[in-house]
Amino acid sequence: MSKQKKIAIIGAGASGLLSSILLSEQGFDVTIFEKNNKVGKKLLATGNGRCNVTNKNISLKNFYSNSNISLIKNNISDFSYNDCKELFNRLGVEFKVVPSGRAYPLSLTSSSIVDILEYEALKHGVKIELNSEIIDLKYNNERFTLNKNIHFDKLVVATGSIAMPKLGSSESGYQFAKQFKHSIIKPVASLVQLVSSNKHLDVVAGVKIEAVIDKTRGDFLFTKYGVSGSLILDISRKVSKDLQTQKTVRLSVDTMPDFSMETLTNMLSKRLEYLKDKELHLWLDGIMNKKLAKYIILNSNIPSHIKYAKFLSQQDILKIVKTIKNLQFTITDTKGFETCEVCAGGIELSEINLETMESKHQKNLYFIGEVIDIDGDCGGYNLHWAWSSSNTLALNMR
Ligand SMILES: Cc1cc2nc3c(=O)[nH]c(=O)nc-3n(C[C@H](O)[C@H](O)[C@H](O)COP(=O)(O)OP(=O)(O)OC[C@H]3O[C@@H](n4cnc5c(N)ncnc54)[C@H](O)[C@@H]3O)c2cc1C
Repeated sequence: MSKQKKIAIIGAGASGLLSSILLSEQGFDVTIFEKNNKVGKKLLATGNGRCNVTNKNISLKNFYSNSNISLIKNNISDFSYNDCKELFNRLGVEFKVVPSGRAYPLSLTSSSIVDILEYEALKHGVKIELNSEIIDLKYNNERFTLNKNIHFDKLVVATGSIAMPKLGSSESGYQFAKQFKHSIIKPVASLVQLVSSNKHLDVVAGVKIEAVIDKTRGDFLFTKYGVSGSLILDISRKVSKDLQTQKTVRLSVDTMPDFSMETLTNMLSKRLEYLKDKELHLWLDGIMNKKLAKYIILNSNIPSHIKYAKFLSQQDILKIVKTIKNLQFTITDTKGFETCEVCAGGIELSEINLETMESKHQKNLYFIGEVIDIDGDCGGYNLHWAWSSSNTLALNMR
């Protein structure tokens, strides 16, 4: 491959950095333009600073799109967990895999990933232009012109989505795609905290439990504004989508999933016998966090004059058990793009040739990473898409 073909990549994030290495290894002359003053700012923030690079259980069912998700079947199967591991091992990153399947760099620091990608890119002669936001893009005479005076044969848009703009995300990838008549599926915040209009949340804010919503189990965090935790992030995509057409979404949370209604009813009835002199919320202390106990009582519709356990009727006990097993939340909003980890939506999948990542509307124009209408579950899947789309691009670039 000759060095003559000049490729511009917009965005030095996960997909931009990896594809620059893979393309330069093949002899292309690659320049990355990055608006931030350093590369991989979002990558640094991933996995709470540890970077959940991928997942041992990669499968198509962890990815979502407005289009038929099986369109990316080959991209995912051609770049399996083992392929990903092999690639990162080759670059010098060893993995630590935790029981859930999440893979992290053995150093457990995201800066290892960023530093190694940057080092490899520079080693292969990639030019990295920092503080270089691309705001103007033209296509004329079979070449792309960036910011009015920089010319390239091929252009890779790796600008990511609009999730967490403080890390560099912008709408520009969507704007560039629109210029070439691509359709954009309206992005919504995903892997995001949810805002609730429930009363008394200040009573329980900060309490973390293991809970179940709709058969999905995980960490659930009560906050002053609503709910968070990995369980909420997991279901947030659907809630976010529903909030596009509904004013509110109801969530029913099982706060003690290891106990059936019957077991709980028996347990509480027994406690009534030997702890009858306790104040209501103290009566639940020892079963659950006392802030949560207070919140459960406040939501159980127990007559306000009942202050002590001994005055509870069997019907009141049933009300409390029902609240524990089906704690209701009215969700009015998400915390939005400012705090979400990814966006659902982006460039319409079917308008991209997924064997090459090339636009079906414009020759020599390519899209990779989160700018496309693909998002994944929490657990390394979103970065896996950034890596696997870069792999497809580089394998097939001519
Ligand atoms: C807090 C947080 C934690 C996360 N944790 C994980 C995790 O542990 N595992 C996981 O799989 N996923 C995680 N994600 C999601 C993951 O980071 C993204 O899916 C992934 O980074 C997307 O890669 P990308 O290359 O498409 O875009 P990005 O990594 O966002 O890179 C895009 C780059 O393009 C630059 N850019 C944008 N517009 C322009 C322009 N016009 N000119 C020049 N430069 C431009 C941006 O500054 C940015 O550097 C997390 C996200 C967040 C916000």
